[in-house]
Amino acid sequence: MSREQQAVARARKAFETGRSRPLEHRIRQLRNLQRLFTERQKEIADATKKDLNRSDVGTQLYETLGLEGEIELTVSKLREWAAPRPAEKNLLTLSDTVYIKPEPLGVVLIIGAWNYPWAVTIQPLIGAIAAGNAAVIKPSEVCVHTAKVMEDLLPLYIDKELYPVVSGGVAETQELLRQRFDHIFYTGNSAVGKIIMEAAAKNLTPVTLELGGKSPCYIDKSCDISIACRRATWGKYTNCGQTCIAPDYILCEPSIQDRVIAEIKKSIKDFYTENPKTCPDYGRIINQRHHRRIMAMLEDSTVAAGGDSDESDCYIAPTVLRDVKPGAKVMQEEIFGPVLPILTVSGLDEAIQFINRREKPLALYVFTSDNKVVQRMRDETSSGGLVANDCLVHYSVSSLPFGGVGNSGMGCYHGKFSFDQLSHLRGCLIKQLKMEGVNSMRYPPHTPKKLGW
Ligand code: NAD
Repeated sequence: MSREQQAVARARKAFETGRSRPLEHRIRQLRNLQRLFTERQKEIADATKKDLNRSDVGTQLYETLGLEGEIELTVSKLREWAAPRPAEKNLLTLSDTVYIKPEPLGVVLIIGAWNYPWAVTIQPLIGAIAAGNAAVIKPSEVCVHTAKVMEDLLPLYIDKELYPVVSGGVAETQELLRQRFDHIFYTGNSAVGKIIMEAAAKNLTPVTLELGGKSPCYIDKSCDISIACRRATWGKYTNCGQTCIAPDYILCEPSIQDRVIAEIKKSIKDFYTENPKTCPDYGRIINQRHHRRIMAMLEDSTVAAGGDSDESDCYIAPTVLRDVKPGAKVMQEEIFGPVLPILTVSGLDEAIQFINRREKPLALYVFTSDNKVVQRMRDETSSGGLVANDCLVHYSVSSLPFGGVGNSGMGCYHGKFSFDQLSHLRGCLIKQLKMEGVNSMRYPPHTPKKLGW
């Protein structure tokens, strides 16, 4: 038996003991997980610093505080979420008890990505534990240091048979995918998402795919361009552009392009100083392979700001590209780096058309002071999530479903959505053995006399 097979078999055996089901167990495990974040903050932050040159504050703000909040919410609401949910009856079932009972699915496989390695791996785990499942956790091998800390620390805090960590890369993930799971929760790029879904299909295993794509950002000339650009700059360059919901590119009218560039440059300077390379709040590209991939995207476009880089340090300056053509290299795939192309359109109509001709994005941003522009953008396009006049912040609202649509993914999570996503919502109808006379009509023979026709 391979290491992966053993981990899955042990998790299934532990699930079959029934010990993941009592709410007390789920709450205890969630509290232990919460303790990990308070007691091990330094190890977590140090590893993320090594992987992404992210500051301690950045890791707290963008990962661990959110996870602690998610655990708090889940613990406080779990009894309500897990309770039977009364359902409406119809005429035929008036005297019956009809309800929905969430039940655990079984063993869930969680495959994480590297860009927010704690958030994208532990957030689904919170949902899996809350819903009473076992879970095999596969952190991304790309964030080498964080994967190691996760592998070392999680077994010290949570049940290591129910929730084992299996580290490794493509070969190990594929070996895991040959095993049978009751749900697969994958975060990563869309190409691998297809491989995951194909593997899952062999066992009819349901999947949640949290994927990426090119999230557009339309800046309407009606808005306060200075504020819009400040917020978009923050959304783009946080984590060095390696954020699944970062605004990938900007659409605006030609008349405001120069102003947009000037305001973004100003915000870059305000946030990261004249020399972002030495600024503790500016990150690095995860590795040299990604560094080369991103730099190759600049080849056929005009740099309006930044553009300098240092491969040995995985550094790319916050970069803005102007008058970018739809056919340019940078527009062919998700950038996932600190490069912000600006494309000009004649107005809202063309922006909507531009968005609709491409794959459905994970997020869509619109900056405007005109509510009609927000409404049209909302009603005439589709995307995983939509935010007006800000970036990224919808991620932090646990009452909103977080997930993609079409090429940006399927299924959603956060808060109660995580619980429901990783539960089976079982429809239950409990009838008594009395009042048999009421049923006589449905039994054959179906004579007109009996039916009253
Ligand atoms: P990655 O390289 O870490 O891959 C993700 C996971 O897939 C890893 O655990 C890896 O081991 C596994 N994997 C890679 N290749 C595989 C293969 N051939 N077969 C089986 N498993 C394989 O991460 P990535 O894909 O570079 O992540 C970046 C992408 O993830 C971006 O597209 C980003 O937008 C997206 N993302 C989405 C979300 C979201 O919540 N929707 C969050 C973060 C990242």
